[in-house]
Amino acid sequence: HARLLGAGFDFGTSGVRVAVLEPSRSSSEPVFSSSVALAPDAGAHEWLGALDALLGELPAELRARLTHIGISGTSATCVLTERDSPAAADGGGAAGELLGARPSLRGTRRYDWSAHSVPAVGARALELIRRHAPAGHTACAPTSSLAKLVCWQLEQPLPRGAMLCHQADYLSAALLDRAVTPTSDWHNALKLGFDVSDGALRYPDWLLALLRELGPVADPLGADALPTVVRPGEPLGAVSRAAAARWGLSAQCIVCAGTTDSIAAFLAATGGACSAGTAVTSLGSTIAIKLLSQSRADDAAFGLYSHRLGNRWLVGGASNAGCAVLREHFSDAELTALSERIDADAECDLGYVPLRASAVGERFPTPSADARQRLEPRPTSATHADPEAAFLHAILDALARVEARGYTLLAERGADAPHTILTCGGGSANVAFTRIRSRLLPVPAERAKTVEASVGVALLALSEGDVGGAGPSPSVTWPIGDFS
Ligand code: ADP
Repeated sequence: HARLLGAGFDFGTSGVRVAVLEPSRSSSEPVFSSSVALAPDAGAHEWLGALDALLGELPAELRARLTHIGISGTSATCVLTERDSPAAADGGGAAGELLGARPSLRGTRRYDWSAHSVPAVGARALELIRRHAPAGHTACAPTSSLAKLVCWQLEQPLPRGAMLCHQADYLSAALLDRAVTPTSDWHNALKLGFDVSDGALRYPDWLLALLRELGPVADPLGADALPTVVRPGEPLGAVSRAAAARWGLSAQCIVCAGTTDSIAAFLAATGGACSAGTAVTSLGSTIAIKLLSQSRADDAAFGLYSHRLGNRWLVGGASNAGCAVLREHFSDAELTALSERIDADAECDLGYVPLRASAVGERFPTPSADARQRLEPRPTSATHADPEAAFLHAILDALARVEARGYTLLAERGADAPHTILTCGGGSANVAFTRIRSRLLPVPAERAKTVEASVGVALLALSEGDVGGAGPSPSVTWPIGDFS
């Protein structure tokens, strides 16, 4: 049995990272990692250039031994391309024009591109989607992949044979033979409307009806405009002969279906060892939680929805509240110094609402259209022995209550109770904060293994999608399997 070696490429919001993992080693540290920056307005050409540059940076010895490649992208970042492309000549290909790469027909639309940016068309597109989609479906959002596709079609009917790809689908296809049509995965395709329910795993009838209504009668937009969707991590095929020649890859190296950057980060945080009840809290500018569960939980009013991961559900919600509020009042040095003066085992609930000063409204876990920051009453020397530390303590306490309420809401909506809560993001380094959170959470918080999404998508590819209980085994542990 050849030794496995997987490369994961994560196309994130500001750059692209690669991590190479060798699961037979006892350490889960990547054997190689690197990154390149990506400009905010980068399009398909720049994505391909970054993939080419990072593949070129891998040591030749590793490239020759790679067995699995996986790519994650930012959710709902889309490109329009051609379904059928003539076969590329073997070898050659300028940097940025990868061998199996298809043309980008109308540029790219990034994760944060909104239908509201093309007002007249956007309003029609959103009205059409809301009329067909179930109420509160994630595809109804103005930034959804479906909204991007419908806007493209309403602006100018798509040429025959055009199809929508997500960033990860497009880039994976570029490494495969051009005869292979780009394929998407359950995670990227969720915001396009793909139905991942048990017994479904197909585009729902409402979506196909919407597409029929969209096209000119003579040339309706069909399901052909949508990618085929497979399980994240499922092998798509071996790299093309041209790709093998360009980078010295093995002809046996396979490209596996990808995922989104945030799910890849979840997998990275767990080191691939996740089972129902494994949760990850991200304490960045905002608080986001993800919990692997045996049953799904969805509630649009709370911004709560579930991705399918194997036979389980990755239930997630994101608050507008988060550690950004700390930056409004403390420098990093002050945060560190003041945190040491906090008695984390004591309660300090002053009823704060830890939104940013400019934020209006909250969805998860306590929806309120007009919620605003509240950091009153302020501790004084009359009320607290150390008012400065007490102020920070009260904010951390409020943030921890948002997180704890989030897990309670998930449980109320039918998700499993967490048995492990891993933490990543800037706030995870704070020991006092971790103690405060552990007091309020159902289980003590732990630090995540790694937060590099590139590691997560490499793990996903190496497992060929059997992560989180996709197959008969309920969990996959590190190292994955036995590869002697
Ligand atoms: P994002 O990528 O969402 O901006 P990061 O994961 O980089 O977030 O985390 C940044 C956040 O971490 C900031 O909002 C900052 O307030 C918070 N942070 C940084 N250091 C600390 C600390 N010692 N204690 C608590 N929060 C911290």
